[in-house]
Amino acid sequence: MATREKNNYLVNELTARYGFERGHALDAAERLMRHHGIYNDFVQYNQTGQVSDNKYGGYTLAQLVNDYQLEPIGAFLMLVELETDAVQGQYYLNQIIQHGHRVKTVDEDGDEVVEFRTVASPVREDMAPNNPNCPKCNSELTWIDQYKRWYCYECKEYV
Ligand SMILES: [Zn+2]
Repeated sequence: MATREKNNYLVNELTARYGFERGHALDAAERLMRHHGIYNDFVQYNQTGQVSDNKYGGYTLAQLVNDYQLEPIGAFLMLVELETDAVQGQYYLNQIIQHGHRVKTVDEDGDEVVEFRTVASPVREDMAPNNPNCPKCNSELTWIDQYKRWYCYECKEYV
C-alpha cells in the first residue's frame, strides 16, 4: 500500500473502530506509521484479532496490555514510543506505574470526566526488586531495556 492509502486506512480504523476524533486519529496514524513492523502488527490485529509476539523496545503488546492495563490501541502507540524513543517510552510507563491511568468517562450530564486508575507495579523477572540509585544525584535509576542500560531522569544521562 502507498503511504497515503496506509494513512487513510489507519484514520478510518481509528475513527470507526476505536472512536477517535479526527484530529486524534490523524496524530495516532502518523505515529503508527513511524514503524513498519508495528504498523503491520496493528493491521493484522484489526483484520484477524491476532496479537504478535514481536518485541519493540523490549516489550510485547501482551505485556503492555496485561502488566500496564493499556487498551490494545494504547499499547500499539506505546510500542511505537518504546521502539523509536526508548527513554521517553520508559518514562511514560513509569508515569503509569506511579500515577495510574487517566481514564475518560462521561458523567450524567454528558460531560467528560477524567479519572485516575492505579496499576500494580509489574513484577519483572529480569529486574532486581529495587532499582539502584544514581551515583551523582542519588535518584532512583530507570532500566532502559532496549539499550540494556540504567538511566537517570534527573541528570538525563546513562550511568
Ligand atoms: Zn542522577
